[in-house]
Amino acid sequence: MQLIEHSDSPRYIRLHERDNVVVVVNDQGVPQGTEFADGLVTAEFVPQSHKVLLEDLAVGDPVIRYGQIIGYALQPIRRGSWVKEDLLRMPSAPPLDSLPLSTEVPAVQAPLEGFTFEGYRNADGTVGTRNILGITTTVQCVTGVLDHAVKRIKDELLPRYPHVDDVVALTHSYGCGVAITATDAYIPIRTVRNLARNPNLGGEALVISLGCEKLQAGQVMHEDDSSVDLSEPWLYRLQDASHGFGEMVEQIMELAEVRLKKLDQRRRETVPASELVLGMQCGGSDAFSGITANPALGYASDLLLRAGATVMFSEVTEVRDAIYLLTSRAESEAVARELVREMDWYDRYLAKGEADRSANTTPGNKKGGLSNIVEKSLGSIVKSGSSAINGVLGPGERFTRKGLIFCATPASDFVCGTLQLAAGMNLHVFTTGRGTPYGLAMAPVVKVSTRSELAQRWPDLIDIDAGRIATGRASIEELGWELFHFYLDVASGKQQTWAERHKLHNDITLFNPAPIT
Ligand code: CA
Repeated sequence: MQLIEHSDSPRYIRLHERDNVVVVVNDQGVPQGTEFADGLVTAEFVPQSHKVLLEDLAVGDPVIRYGQIIGYALQPIRRGSWVKEDLLRMPSAPPLDSLPLSTEVPAVQAPLEGFTFEGYRNADGTVGTRNILGITTTVQCVTGVLDHAVKRIKDELLPRYPHVDDVVALTHSYGCGVAITATDAYIPIRTVRNLARNPNLGGEALVISLGCEKLQAGQVMHEDDSSVDLSEPWLYRLQDASHGFGEMVEQIMELAEVRLKKLDQRRRETVPASELVLGMQCGGSDAFSGITANPALGYASDLLLRAGATVMFSEVTEVRDAIYLLTSRAESEAVARELVREMDWYDRYLAKGEADRSANTTPGNKKGGLSNIVEKSLGSIVKSGSSAINGVLGPGERFTRKGLIFCATPASDFVCGTLQLAAGMNLHVFTTGRGTPYGLAMAPVVKVSTRSELAQRWPDLIDIDAGRIATGRASIEELGWELFHFYLDVASGKQQTWAERHKLHNDITLFNPAPIT
């Protein structure tokens, strides 16, 4: 990376030697006629994080960023111009039948030994970073009663069990009025099932059901619902209550207290860093995401993988246009084909809804300098670092092996976060350029800003400022190590993230590609 740097002089970042556009670093942008240190002069005002052209382009010439083509000039464009979305024709998505499969598998890097965190060991072998009572639901009908009960549990019971971090109701919009046997219904069903098995919930299952709904409690507890003993005291059906609302609340509180007592006995113990299951995603991205925050995450991801941990990246619509860079990195042809399978599934899902892949970029992304989904994708996959991709999970599937895993999810922040929780993550990291107060109730969320200006405006929401990379105050390597240590401290409970301190969390949002009836 070439960085032209003086604290108040005009500055830009060029990421790759092949690039013919650079990104403006200065907070207020640069006015028309600004001369950079290398002699480049702007032909017009260019805002921060937007692109300036390095050479004259004729119609059809490629615009190159990250060393890859992000679009073709729709009209002649002069050197020094602001390269905006409407000047570019977007390249078509890479065809899935001619991708390089496992052709450039990165070598395994030297192991990192001796890193640990303090976590909660679960009976199934996983490790929690928090000790939370999760109360699963089969249907939205129970939400009102359960929310009422959970408020009372938090007010009246939780203070008596100081070793329990929180009580979370796993409420959602699924369960009834849905085509439960539809082809794609397995996705929301296994998501509900696997959310209840998240390592941060300590394995103390409690399911609240209405009674008559389509999604039955047995299906939530086990894939093979005939093997579930429904007389077990992990289940309470509201329709069994003979004395109305008051009885329902009392029953739920009683069942919750039995579990709080057990969870309160648990203590953190020292576990190897390999027990970390980190889920990564971005939201409110800008053109800095791929320069500062995402490369720092990528560096930290490589460190975690060297320490034996599990790192998940996601967001199908944000890797689709750069998929050729991922299939080549898959550890085997089989893993590459799984990546292709997930891309193909999503292509068909979007086609069914007659949605275009360009529907991904938001007005905020564009304001932040991202011209299209190709440019966004190239910046997004940087999070995955430089290691081989070891596995692929379908939406709502739970992880079964360590390493770098592509967890197929939509890019929507809440849906991605929910599916990564179902996949078994015990820690989440989220990069943002435009800014979002996003949080999750079931796992700590580390928020990393792509720009220092955002970190300064939101000092009590942003945990790590990666904008320091753009201004030359920190290198990607330094920030990568800082993140690595911060992850371990947050996992240990020594550090709380801002979202955690403020108790900010978004709803569990299921991905239901199947019909509603
Ligand atoms: Ca996202």
